[in-house]
Amino acid sequence: MADGKPAPLIEAATEPPVPVSLRARAAHRIMPHTFQGRLTLAFVAILALTLTLVTTLVLNRLGDYFDQQQREDLTARSLGVAQYVALVAEGSSGLRPVVGESRVVDPAVVVELRRTSQQRILADRLAKADVRIRLGTAVDGKFAPASNGDFTALLEASALAGQTREPITSDAIYYTVTGTFLPYMVEVTLSNPYTYRATAIATTTGLLAIIGIVALTVSIVAAAALARRFTTPLRRLTEASRGLAEGDLARRVPTDAATAGSLELTELALQFNAMANRVQESVDIIRRDRDRGRDFLADVSHELRTPIAALRTFNELLRERVGEDPDARAEFIEASGVQLERLDWLAQNLLELSKLDSGLVLLDLRPDDLRATVEQAVEQAETAARRRGVDLAIHLTEHPLRIRHDPVRVGQVVANLVGNAIKFTPRGGRIAVDVVATPDGARIEVADTGVGIPPEELPRIFERFYRGTRANEARGSGSGLGLAIVRSIVEMHGGSVTVESRLGTGSTFTVTLPRDPRTADDAATGALPAKPDEPDEPDRTLMTDSSSTAVPGLNPDGAG
Ligand code: ADP
Repeated sequence: MADGKPAPLIEAATEPPVPVSLRARAAHRIMPHTFQGRLTLAFVAILALTLTLVTTLVLNRLGDYFDQQQREDLTARSLGVAQYVALVAEGSSGLRPVVGESRVVDPAVVVELRRTSQQRILADRLAKADVRIRLGTAVDGKFAPASNGDFTALLEASALAGQTREPITSDAIYYTVTGTFLPYMVEVTLSNPYTYRATAIATTTGLLAIIGIVALTVSIVAAAALARRFTTPLRRLTEASRGLAEGDLARRVPTDAATAGSLELTELALQFNAMANRVQESVDIIRRDRDRGRDFLADVSHELRTPIAALRTFNELLRERVGEDPDARAEFIEASGVQLERLDWLAQNLLELSKLDSGLVLLDLRPDDLRATVEQAVEQAETAARRRGVDLAIHLTEHPLRIRHDPVRVGQVVANLVGNAIKFTPRGGRIAVDVVATPDGARIEVADTGVGIPPEELPRIFERFYRGTRANEARGSGSGLGLAIVRSIVEMHGGSVTVESRLGTGSTFTVTLPRDPRTADDAATGALPAKPDEPDEPDRTLMTDSSSTAVPGLNPDGAG
């Protein structure tokens, strides 16, 4: 470099300083930072401005009023002085004119008016001011002073309480005396009079100042109280937001008319509460899901442990001495096979349920005849029913019942219900499956003459892994997943499943399906059994099955 200084590799990126005027910074420092403080300051500033304007106006008007009063007062006093002078002059001049023809004042008058006693009367008692008197005559209607007619009397009396001397000079007044044979004029001018003006103005100003201070004090208190009232709802809103942010989801803003403040703030509080409600609901749902997931995992581990423990025991026994005994060996291998089957069945059901719950399963809706779906599922259960010595009957509608449904999944529903009925019905019992058309769709009823369900268990039987107390004594197997799957599938179809049961008499499960799950929420259109000539095209546009696994059934024979 030419100047020898090493150049910086990167220029320091210095932002040009933002010009913040000193005045703005000072104003920011002085201004209160809370809304309440600012509101109070605004109230007080407005009141102070009003008071200042009123005081200025009052004092101004008062000054004008005093000036007017003073002028009138000085004129009256001047007139009194002039009349007194005329009286004294008449008295001392005798029969001579007071002001002679050559415009000279009579010497006796001059002597009398220059006497101290007269001057005291004139200045101290009549005028209460410095007095200048001139005697003269009227020439062409105008005052012409006499050569020796100028008299001055200075005020010497001390002031009365509240009086001060005012540095002003009044306009001269002219008093014409016409009664004598030679008329003359008296000119009177008063200056530096005693007045109450300064005291009155000082008193008024003091009074106004006191009123102002009292008004300001009251207004500060009132403004602070009002501002507090205005800002209370905002403070509440802030507190509630903070509570919410800190995790207190039950925190709400009171919205009753007495505490909520203005309409806008009430609206804001309502909106805030609505938002808080939604947040709380969402969090509740997430928590519930989390808890359910945790319970589910615990249940799954529990369910898996039993067959795995059994398998391990068989395995150990087979490896030991028992493995040499062909009968025992065959028995353990058979038992292991059962446990493996159960594990497989459990895994399939769990996978199915989790897919149903997560929404991964999309229904393959087709306008098929529901009778065929149900018939097929029932047929597959017939072998098991026969084996158990239970009578399985099916009653279908006369006409095809075309409702939009996923035949494989609905078949699974029927298989699970019939499988349960077989499981919980003693030998010699009866099971009836009915398919009925309803105005909105169809109803499938699975009724058995089995062991029944105790009333206190009824609300729980659709829960995952719930097994009734009589389940084991009836038929042993089962994991409490069958009805959970039934409910998931039926709800995906927009339908419902209910149960009626009497202990020792039997149970009836009723599945209600809408005519079309896609319009299940719409007003019922009076679904009737479909006409046989309706197109039988599968509808895969809206709901299709993404599942690649085989649909498991509660009853191995009923798997679709
Ligand atoms: P699982 O049959 O594997 O135990 P489910 O979910 O199918 O599981 O059924 C849950 C419980 O409901 C059963 O354990 C049983 O107590 C009761 N249950 C279901 N169906 C019937 C039925 N038809 N008769 C009596 N009890 C039943």
